[in-house]
Amino acid sequence: RFISLEGGEGVGKSTQAQMLADALRGRGLAVLQTREPGGTRGAEAIRALLLDQQYDWDASAEALLFAAARSDHVTRAIRPALERGEWVVCDRFVDSSRAYQAGGDDLSDNAVLSLHTIGSYALMPDVTFLLQADGAEVAQRLAERDSDGADRIGAKSADYHLRVARRFRDLAAMDAERFVLIDASGSPHDVHGRILRALAPLLGE
Ligand code: C5P
Repeated sequence: RFISLEGGEGVGKSTQAQMLADALRGRGLAVLQTREPGGTRGAEAIRALLLDQQYDWDASAEALLFAAARSDHVTRAIRPALERGEWVVCDRFVDSSRAYQAGGDDLSDNAVLSLHTIGSYALMPDVTFLLQADGAEVAQRLAERDSDGADRIGAKSADYHLRVARRFRDLAAMDAERFVLIDASGSPHDVHGRILRALAPLLGE
């Protein structure tokens, strides 16, 4: 099974990815916990290029780099893990490119999906949790953390982040089978509980 976690900055995706992977392992399941951009040596190297503000990539170069990172990640890590029968928990996947490079910048969704077909066999998660939190809580979390994407987040306008959030909601509405909306407010423990409840049918619980 392939699970992705999506959402804007500071909604707690990484914490939830860790808690979810631990919960699955606690049930005796083999889990690959990974993230995008990154997850392999090559893709982590591309991540460093993407997050380095000195390059000031335009939207199409950026989309190509994300797609290249994802291609390596899918070919070398995600597909092999799925073929071994493992669960994959991925912090961001192609929906982030659809929200950021297509929604935030003005590339088309089809362009992003074409790159995904070329690079990554159009592989889609079985379930995508879209974490949603209100602005004040997110601002607080962002102020408290020191992430490698911090400069990049600061470089984008508030309007850009609104467009990204709106696109995530639209993607979820268009594919209600795959997306599960998760209220990301409250403690990490509360949010984790919501995710596990939504996953219960897949776990046979
Ligand atoms: O989730 P994380 O903080 O690791 O993401 C790193 C940065 O890359 C974030 O600022 C996020 O907005 C950005 N990103 C992006 N397009 C993607 C994936 C991530 O702009 N497809």
